[in-house]
Amino acid sequence: MGTRRPKCPGCGSVLGNHELRLTEPFRCPVCGDPLYVSRSYVWVSYWLSILLSVLLPLALGLRGLALILAAILLWVPVTIIEIIVVRRIIPPKIGRHQPDVTLDGRQKPLL
Ligand SMILES: [Zn+2]
Repeated sequence: MGTRRPKCPGCGSVLGNHELRLTEPFRCPVCGDPLYVSRSYVWVSYWLSILLSVLLPLALGLRGLALILAAILLWVPVTIIEIIVVRRIIPPKIGRHQPDVTLDGRQKPLL
């Protein structure tokens, strides 16, 4: 079985988790291409972690203020665990970060 790890769309080299930036464009350590993690991937994992932070204490029987406090306290560890688990199941979709206009001034086509 091949490794289900995010790859650089430019050179195909496997990107380590520590090389990925979820909130900003980053460069491929091998070919230097500007890359980014799909916005929808970041959006889904963000809301999933909030949902899990609420559902977990809810399932444990917490209600009201205790539920809110537990959700806030759980959010950071849940996000960390979720990122590790989700990344193993669904590798982040890596795209080439394209500025609106290329260096030679031409408009780049949107895929
Ligand atoms: Zn590359």
